[in-house]
Amino acid sequence: MGTIRFKAVEECNSRMPVAFTAPGEKISDFFACNVFNKEAMHKCLSKEIYNQMNAATETGQRIDRKVAEQVATAMKTWAMGKGATHYTHWFQPLTGNTAEKHDAFFELHDGRPMENFSSSALVQQEPDASSFPSGGIRNTFEARGYTAWDPSSPAFIIESQSGKTLCIPTIFVSYTGETLDYKAPLMKALHAIDKAAVDVCQLFDKNVSKVSPTLGIEQEYFLIDTALFNARPDLKSTGRTVFGHAPAKGQQMEDHYFGSIPSRVYAFMVEFETEAFKLGIPLKTRHNEVAPSQFECAPIFEEINLAVDHNQLLMDMMDKVARRHHFKVLLHEKPYAGINGSGKHNNWSLATNTGKNLFSPGGNPKSNLQFLTFFINTIKAVYEHADLLRASIASSSNDHRLGANEAPPAIMSIFAGAQLTAVLNDLEKKVTKEKMTPEEKTDLKLGIGKLPEILLDNTDRNRTSPFAFTGNKFEFRAVGSSANCSHAMMVLNTIVANQLTSFKKEVDALINKNVNKDEAILKVLREYIVASKRILFEGNGYSDEWVKEAKKRGLSNITTTPLALDAMVSKESLKLFETTGIFSHREAEARHEILLEDYIKKMEIESRVIEDLAINHIIPAAIKYQTQLAQNVEAMHDIGLKANNTKVQMDMIKEISAGLMTIKTNIDGMVAERNKANNITTARAKAIAYCDKVKKYFGEIRDAADNMEVIVSDELWPLPKYREMLHIR
Ligand code: ADP
Ligand code: MG
Repeated sequence: MGTIRFKAVEECNSRMPVAFTAPGEKISDFFACNVFNKEAMHKCLSKEIYNQMNAATETGQRIDRKVAEQVATAMKTWAMGKGATHYTHWFQPLTGNTAEKHDAFFELHDGRPMENFSSSALVQQEPDASSFPSGGIRNTFEARGYTAWDPSSPAFIIESQSGKTLCIPTIFVSYTGETLDYKAPLMKALHAIDKAAVDVCQLFDKNVSKVSPTLGIEQEYFLIDTALFNARPDLKSTGRTVFGHAPAKGQQMEDHYFGSIPSRVYAFMVEFETEAFKLGIPLKTRHNEVAPSQFECAPIFEEINLAVDHNQLLMDMMDKVARRHHFKVLLHEKPYAGINGSGKHNNWSLATNTGKNLFSPGGNPKSNLQFLTFFINTIKAVYEHADLLRASIASSSNDHRLGANEAPPAIMSIFAGAQLTAVLNDLEKKVTKEKMTPEEKTDLKLGIGKLPEILLDNTDRNRTSPFAFTGNKFEFRAVGSSANCSHAMMVLNTIVANQLTSFKKEVDALINKNVNKDEAILKVLREYIVASKRILFEGNGYSDEWVKEAKKRGLSNITTTPLALDAMVSKESLKLFETTGIFSHREAEARHEILLEDYIKKMEIESRVIEDLAINHIIPAAIKYQTQLAQNVEAMHDIGLKANNTKVQMDMIKEISAGLMTIKTNIDGMVAERNKANNITTARAKAIAYCDKVKKYFGEIRDAADNMEVIVSDELWPLPKYREMLHIR
């Protein structure tokens, strides 16, 4: 019975690192060689068209037909020159994966073969996309959704063993214009924050005409040998192990973190990094993570839309390259119980066209006041919309991680660092409600002017905060490792955009009442500090005290996805999405529905996998062992030995019987609850039933099954054990 397992272990013990030769000596020799970026366009397009194209991408304006026609021709020539035979609109439907449908450049004209690619094929396509989630927006019989080119993200070529395909990043909208993907809402949010932030910057610097949010994504993941992966049906269908006793040696020695990278893994990393470089993904760091077989990679930050596309591509790429190295990449937030999970830290900031990072304190009082303005507005935005931000990272898999004493809790809070907290307190105290005296103003300005010095040695880091200020950027750590971070970034940029717009209005109103500009800014900022400081927390976010303290402060702690998602469609959120132009009510509701459906499907699959493994793998193994024990007892009695000689066997036989009973009873209970849940017709109630009624059995079944793993003879145990899966040789 355990033969698959032993074969798998043997197979992975005999593995050698897979050799790989890089296409060039230096990374710069091949970086972005498969990207139709500015440089490539510069070479292939006339100067006039190139400039028009550039202007359009900068401003997000429509590209006219003539330009599109020339770009399409140039793109085709470039791609075919690199050996591409097909092209695809590459988009990000709400399944969380990326989607492609390949078409050949090849066409028949009057029966003669020709390679063709027109501007209409570049700009817009109509895939039969009836199977992508739409939350009821698009009826299946009206299966038309459009994909439309996003010129702000460059086209690229994906190479595989059997061919090359030109991929054109696109948005995906329904026939009636509603968004059905992750990219379109993100682009709208980026547009909103650009506008709002530029307006605010105008208070400080008239030269600012564009603000682009930046994002650096730290991606954590686990690796497992394919042979072992294939012997674990739970990993294959849910991405996590639903059973498995804790290994004697887990992560308690902490010897994996930043340790030397195993050679097989190293070979894999070098190859996927090379593939990433060819696609223009600027990977910068790689290292071991805390848990055994857990790793992290991070690129240099980029403009958000591109950073998100690159992260999606990277996840795809890693998976493809891993196969050649006989690895499977686990992106699930919690593949192994009792072992650290994986996140995707989103480092976020705002950059101006004048080259300034708005979250980086500058060298003088004026730019420091600008810094404080953006800093405090972000705090206010997160405070006001903490629940929506929490909803933006909610998924069945991230539920395992948030608040599990190793990841940020489900409570949204902000870490500002000791120095900035002091600055905020100071501001709160010193800005007076009435008209400020010249001395008070000077005093304040002096304090604000000193900011850069104190922040320079700001080394205090808090790893337990879900949203931490880290010197010149915010780090949103609660995002899950498998997520498309578009969604979280859409929400973050939307709430900050909305907040900045209110701020500008309030300041303008004071200025109109003849309050001096700086004083007006300071007064509004002070009010914001007073209103939102409850969300600032410097202590240990993993502690039980924080849970109590947060409750006292009135902060939400929503630990499960079905309830967390309510914030997507709360009155405030619907209004927010509407005023910022991100979603209509219908779109927000549809998205809510899709996320609930996703939760339900995943829980149902998990529940079925648990049932299958327990009934068809674990119970039979336990019974087989129990039979062996019984036969042994019988044989012992046959040769005349007394009961006390077979006590151990008898005890084990009884323990197995008790365990079998626990497993079976709980499986029956779970199946009954699942059937009940499946009869519920509204998505929210059904998701809650899965969460509260069905999931409740998972732990009980697991405990009993894991206990079996310790009793049953190793020889008979069918599933690869944690110690085998977690330690790569
Ligand atoms: P950590 O100590 O958390 O590992 P690093 O300083 O290595 O942090 O940076 C983590 C990520 O933050 C990297 O992807 C980096 O490019 C990104 N980052 C740095 N500055 C910015 C910025 N201004 N905007 C967005 N991301 C940034
Ligand atoms: Mg980090």
